[in-house]
Amino acid sequence: MTETSTAGLAAFRAEAEEFLRSIAGGFAADEAARARRESDRIASVEELGEGHELQVERVRNLQARLFDAGLAWPSGPVDCGGRGLGRDHDQVVDDLLAELGFPSREVLFVGLHIVAPALDRHAAPELRARMLPALYRGDAIGCQLFSEPGAGSDLAGVATRAVRDGDGWVLTGQKVWTSMGHLADVGEALVRTDPDAPKHAGMTMFLVDMRAPGVTVRPIRQMTGGAAFNEVFLDGVRVPDAHRIGAVGEGWKVAGTSLGSERKTMVGDDGPVSPYALGRLAALVERLGAADDPVHRAEIAGTVASVVAMKAAAELPEGAWGSLGPASGSVLKMLMTRAVDRMAGLAGEVLGELAFTDSGEPDTHAWAEFVLGAPALHLAGGTDEIQLNIIAQRGLGLPRPPKPARQTTEARS
Ligand SMILES: Cc1cc2nc3c(=O)[nH]c(=O)nc-3n(C[C@H](O)[C@H](O)[C@H](O)COP(=O)(O)OP(=O)(O)OC[C@H]3O[C@@H](n4cnc5c(N)ncnc54)[C@H](O)[C@@H]3O)c2cc1C
Repeated sequence: MTETSTAGLAAFRAEAEEFLRSIAGGFAADEAARARRESDRIASVEELGEGHELQVERVRNLQARLFDAGLAWPSGPVDCGGRGLGRDHDQVVDDLLAELGFPSREVLFVGLHIVAPALDRHAAPELRARMLPALYRGDAIGCQLFSEPGAGSDLAGVATRAVRDGDGWVLTGQKVWTSMGHLADVGEALVRTDPDAPKHAGMTMFLVDMRAPGVTVRPIRQMTGGAAFNEVFLDGVRVPDAHRIGAVGEGWKVAGTSLGSERKTMVGDDGPVSPYALGRLAALVERLGAADDPVHRAEIAGTVASVVAMKAAAELPEGAWGSLGPASGSVLKMLMTRAVDRMAGLAGEVLGELAFTDSGEPDTHAWAEFVLGAPALHLAGGTDEIQLNIIAQRGLGLPRPPKPARQTTEARS
């Protein structure tokens, strides 16, 4: 079967649908779909906080069933539990899961779309063969330990140290903004192994056991009220050398693989620009009578058009991007944040104060979470300014922006 074989894809879809329908009862899929429809919650950044243990167990269970049926990673290599098919087969499963109302697998996002690509491309065979099936089966939930209090946009400024100790390494430092860190089993940690080497050359990537002694995870509360991300303290954490991802000193290259994948997959159907969220927005506009207003009608049409264009761009083959290829993830991320802004802006405008005063009317105050969460997407996965720099430099070949003039006491006063 090839990626372009329509008949093959249709046969795969039929097989996947039959299997998913056979297990739907166990996951109360229809019930979950109804609950989701009836639930008042609508978030632009999914927040699985305290009290979500059952939900997490449910997702792990679903993922295990998918994996054992060869549906968790159809495009993955056979030796790691995949089926060696095209990426369009992954999309078929994602679409079916959404259509049949299975629970969202957002909690697995970081492990599957940020950690796994790095392991797949850069890890030694033993680590790769052990961890990829664990992540794809939902046995291991992953998190991304990149950002630090002094290293976000300037990621190569990470200061967390790893020092060699026998057949392993000892990690000490602090990470921040770690999404799902409180639920994670493993973390992909970018750390400094050679403080004397040039900034980009002195880093190495490790896979850290989040339950190891010395790992402390503390929640950070966001303005939405949720606590989906955390500070992570690494205090003399031992990591075996076998858990190194890529060569010593090549952490920057490994980070590039993870970040490229993160930016491309953030535009997927499970995210804020899902058909579900768009449908709910259209229904809201109509229910509040705003569809009769030509400005709102134009805005909802424009918003849908921008999402459809973004999805179409996401499906383009590598070759179609021309010189923008190396920056395609950044282009998609920019399109996504702009679409989310339009959605949040329209929701806020038609709701007015209904978004922020809970009158009990369904589907009103719920949008506050979406509106308040939207700005975070301008930062997550790398800020807009940094994406624009990447597009300018790597995509358009423009020169690096001039460094800001060093601030002196005189300049500041
Ligand atoms: C919802 C969410 C989830 C996240 N999850 C994770 C996670 O799981 N793991 C993780 O490691 N991190 C995570 N992050 C962190 C995210 O990657 C960082 O917030 C981001 O890279 C920006 O870094 P910073 O916050 O340190 O801001 P800074 O780097 O301090 O930037 C501050 C401002 O200065 C601008 N700026 C900085 N440098 C330049 C430049 N050269 N040119 C122009 N403008 C510039 C930035 O664009 C920004 O507006 C998450 C963030 C959010 C919001």
